[in-house]
Amino acid sequence: MIVFSGAALDRAPALRRDAGWLEARRAEPGAQAVLMSERGVWIDDGRLAFERPGAEAVFLGLMDGAPVFADHVEDREPERGRPAGLREAATELPATEAALAAYAGSLLAWHRRHRFCANCGAATEPRDGGHERVCPACEAHHFPRTDPVVIVRVSDGGDDALLLGRQARWPEGRFSLLAGYVEPGETLEEAVRREVLEEAGVALDSVSYVASQPWPFPSSLMLGFSAVAERGDPTPGDDELAEVGWFERAELEAPARGDGPLMLAPPYSIARRLIDAWLGEPGR
Ligand SMILES: [Zn+2]
Repeated sequence: MIVFSGAALDRAPALRRDAGWLEARRAEPGAQAVLMSERGVWIDDGRLAFERPGAEAVFLGLMDGAPVFADHVEDREPERGRPAGLREAATELPATEAALAAYAGSLLAWHRRHRFCANCGAATEPRDGGHERVCPACEAHHFPRTDPVVIVRVSDGGDDALLLGRQARWPEGRFSLLAGYVEPGETLEEAVRREVLEEAGVALDSVSYVASQPWPFPSSLMLGFSAVAERGDPTPGDDELAEVGWFERAELEAPARGDGPLMLAPPYSIARRLIDAWLGEPGR
């Protein structure tokens, strides 16, 4: 399963629009809230530390019929447990709880960053259980953002090597797949081709979609592709990459097991998932 996905939650989009229904769920004895602060998501002994939802908590959905909320607890951090960043949560929590933490983190981050109307500047108010904000001054409706990012595993025609890059801000020896934001007016496939051409000077032959991953830093959706290209001579084309090149299958097997000096993306990332799948089964 892809990490940060699979929360097994009924988001109840039709029901949550009913304010009366939502308040009744908030008051249920079994209602619980994922807790977040600027320091991260609250965990206790390898599990999410749930508490009763406060009045401002946003609604995530129903889990086995029980309402689940997310609460920002900046000035009233709980006594038990501790905050964990979402990268740490991805490795510490069971998969369904890591997915809840990602969902809560993205939704609450959107509320904190969108308190004022982008159209007229007035203060906005949450609606729909926290899945919308409405401006009382100009009546504009604002919805939670998800930013699409394409990430692509480029292999050579013989399926013997992968094209990997090192971002300028990464340490020496750390390499991953090429990725970039989708721009307005672009299809996903066009974004994949543009990014690889821009960042590495490599033109792609075929491009196909593989899988996606919610990436809550703060609210991206990673869209994973696989592509084939002629080897050529890749060179960093913009300021984003410090190094780019082809890595033979044999060069990647040790780092995939965690043996240096080459470092790959962490195991919970779709980048790593795509690389590991290719190493295990060429062409997949
Ligand atoms: Zn407005």
